[in-house]
Amino acid sequence: MNEVMLETKKINIECKGYLDIELDPEMDLFAQTERLKKEKNAIVLAHYYQEPDIQDVADYIGDSLGLAQKAEATRADMIVFAGVHFMAETAKILNPSKKVVIPDLLAGCSLSDSCPPPMFEQFKKQHPDHLVISYINCSAGIKALSDIICTSSNAQKIVESLSADQKIIFAPDKNLGAYINKVTGRNMVLWNGACMVHEIFSVEKMTKLKIRHPQAKVIAHPECEEPVLRLADFIGSTTQLLKYTVTDGSSEYIVATETGILHQMMKSSPHKTFIPAPPNNSCACNDCPHMKRNTLEKIYLCMEYEVPEITMDEELRIAAKKPIDKMLELSAKFGL
Ligand code: SF4
Repeated sequence: MNEVMLETKKINIECKGYLDIELDPEMDLFAQTERLKKEKNAIVLAHYYQEPDIQDVADYIGDSLGLAQKAEATRADMIVFAGVHFMAETAKILNPSKKVVIPDLLAGCSLSDSCPPPMFEQFKKQHPDHLVISYINCSAGIKALSDIICTSSNAQKIVESLSADQKIIFAPDKNLGAYINKVTGRNMVLWNGACMVHEIFSVEKMTKLKIRHPQAKVIAHPECEEPVLRLADFIGSTTQLLKYTVTDGSSEYIVATETGILHQMMKSSPHKTFIPAPPNNSCACNDCPHMKRNTLEKIYLCMEYEVPEITMDEELRIAAKKPIDKMLELSAKFGL
């Protein structure tokens, strides 16, 4: 790469968080991405909320738990993380010697942003005898202040594994925390954070949709608010929702989570109908604007130029790894 190209690349990343290089519109991005994977011994890990094209080039598609497990086990030299920043950060925490790149450095998360580490540190001081369980959707700084990390797949089991008199702070998602309190009978202290995508489903529109589709089952992610969860026939993590639609006998579902998961649901059960639950705005479906910053073009570019790269202070990484290791150890014990 010549100097001008390097400088352009640097400026593009600094200004936009991703490489802004014009690609030949006739380029076969699927074939070129496969070529780069082989040449660079790279693996593409994609979250279920990524656009269908990205899911189709991914080596592994999963929710936060599956992606963390895969990131820990991979032998690839480079991890291309098609998700949001805290997910790529988790992959780096688990793989300090590997190069972790993200298609768009600005792919953030409203839930993670709702819990700034300095404020959370003060909150912790107000509850000194509490153990901290944090949902994986948080920054490395919050992970470093936590005792155990959890995902929506294992949160209930992790909480239930602790003695009944153990006082717990749950962060950052108040809706997931309230749901876990409900199903476990605990009274965890909740940090007041939420996901912008799961908070805006409209109970009124979903009720009307249910009247028009009386046979449809409502399935919902526990990051949704309580009134939405009350409408649900099944509540589970993204992976659990996907598995449910495969094994359940119904043929129609109203899906209350980010719409990206519908791609895998339709691929797994092509004979079934999946209706995205409507949000409380003028849109018919509910996309995460952060997840959707990633595109197939950006995947190709970040693999080709190996930027933007996730880097981290080693002290922070070690502190953030401890509660993730604890989660992975407990998940293995529970057979998750
Ligand atoms: S769907 Fe919600 S929790 Fe997931 S990345 Fe988007 S804002 Fe964050």
